[in-house]
Amino acid sequence: MNFDFSKEEQLIQKAAKEFADKRIAPVAGNIHRTNAMPAEIVDGLADLGMFGIPFLEKYGGGEAGYLSYILALEQLSKASAGVGMIISVNAVGLAVINVFGTEEQKLAYLPQSIDGKKIMSFAFTEPGTGSDPKQLTTTVSRDKDGYLLNGTKRFISNAGYKGPMVVVAKESDTGKATAFVIDKFCDGYSLSAPWEKIGAHGGGLYDVYFKDVKIPAENLLGQNGGGLSALKIAMIYGKIGLTGLFLGQALAAFEEGLRYANEKMHRGESIGHKFEHIKISVADMAMKYDAAKWHAYHLGWAADNYKDPLQLAKEAALSKVFVAETAIDIARISMGIHGSYGLMEDYKISQIWGDAIIGPQVEGTAPLLKIMGAGIILNG
Ligand SMILES: Cc1cc2nc3c(=O)[nH]c(=O)nc-3n(C[C@H](O)[C@H](O)[C@H](O)COP(=O)(O)OP(=O)(O)OC[C@H]3O[C@@H](n4cnc5c(N)ncnc54)[C@H](O)[C@@H]3O)c2cc1C
Repeated sequence: MNFDFSKEEQLIQKAAKEFADKRIAPVAGNIHRTNAMPAEIVDGLADLGMFGIPFLEKYGGGEAGYLSYILALEQLSKASAGVGMIISVNAVGLAVINVFGTEEQKLAYLPQSIDGKKIMSFAFTEPGTGSDPKQLTTTVSRDKDGYLLNGTKRFISNAGYKGPMVVVAKESDTGKATAFVIDKFCDGYSLSAPWEKIGAHGGGLYDVYFKDVKIPAENLLGQNGGGLSALKIAMIYGKIGLTGLFLGQALAAFEEGLRYANEKMHRGESIGHKFEHIKISVADMAMKYDAAKWHAYHLGWAADNYKDPLQLAKEAALSKVFVAETAIDIARISMGIHGSYGLMEDYKISQIWGDAIIGPQVEGTAPLLKIMGAGIILNG
C-alpha cells in the first residue's frame, strides 16, 4: 500500500513547505523568543489559502480534503508549532459551524475565517476542567432577545485575534451544555495576559472573561442542550489538525538530530558516521517518524473517506496520541545526539522539545483519549 498523493495534495504540500522554509523559518527564532506571531506570517498564510484547505469552495475553501490539510500542517508546524496551533484551532471552530450551523450562520462565519481574515477560537476549557463537560461553570441564561453569557474560559487559543468564537457553556435553567457563536471583543469580552507556555510560541493562549455578553438567539449552534455533540465534532477535527501539527514536531526533531549527527565532528569524523549508538539513534528516529507519518496520513485519508463517525473519532483520538507521544520520543533521542548543546535555548531542538511536550495534554489528555478509544474498540 502507498499514499499516491494527488496532484493537488502534492501542490499544497509543496506550497506549505516553500512558505515554511522561506517565510517562517527565518523568523521562527524570533517567534519563539517573543511569543508573538508576525502579522505578515498570518497574512501570507491567508493569501496561500492555508486556513481553508478542507472546506467547501462555496464558502471560499480549497475543498482539498483533510489529507492535504495534514500534509500542509506538517510542513508549516515543522517551522513553527505556533503557526500550526493558529491554523488548527481556527479549523476547529470552522468544523463545528460547518456541521451544526444553519446556512445563514455558515454564510456569516465561514468565509471570513476560511480566508484567514478573521481567526476563530473554540472555547471549552475552564479553570475547573478541560475534560469534563458536566463541570462547566460558564453559564448562559435566557434574556429577552437571546442569551446572556457569564464566566471564565481558560487556555483559549487565538482569543487575541478578532473573529468568531464558538463557546460551549451551561444553560442556567436546564444545566445542559450548549454551543453558541459569538464575536470576540464584543461588549463584556475581555482577556488575561497571554500565558507564557513552554512551547508553541506565537500561538497566543489566553483566559477569556465573559461579563453579561449578549448573544442573539440566532447565534445558537445546533440545539439547546446540544453542546456535547458540538464538542465531539470539535474534538475529532481538532485532533486531525493536532496530528498534523505534532507530526511536524516529529519531523523537525528528526531533521535536527540528523543534521547534528552529520555536522558534529569527533577526531575528524562525524559522530553519525563514527559512533554506533548515534547510528542506532538515527535509525530509531527514522522508524518512529515513519510510524507517526503513516498514522497521520492515514487519519487524513480516513477523514476524507469515513463511513462511521465513531471509527473516525477513535482513529483521530489514537492517532493524535500516537503522533504526539512519538514526537516526544524523537525529540528526546535527538536531544541525546546533541549532548549538552540540546539543552541550550540557542539550539532548535530545545525549542522543539517544548513544542512536542505539549502534545499529549492538549485537546484531551492522552490517557483519556486512550480510554475513549478503547471503549469504541471494545464495543466493536
Ligand atoms: C497550547 C494549548 C492550547 C489550548 N487551546 C485550547 C482551546 O483553544 N480551547 C480550549 O477549550 N482548550 C484549550 N486548551 C486546553 C486543553 O485542551 C486542556 O487543558 C486539556 O484538554 C486538559 O484539560 P485540563 O488541563 O483541565 O486537565 P483536567 O481535565 O483537569 O485533567 C487533569 C488530569 O486528570 C486526568 N483526568 C481528568 N478527568 C479524568 C477522568 N474522567 N478519568 C481519568 N482521568 C481524568 C487527566 O488525564 C489529567 O491527567 C489548550 C491547552 C494548551 C496547552
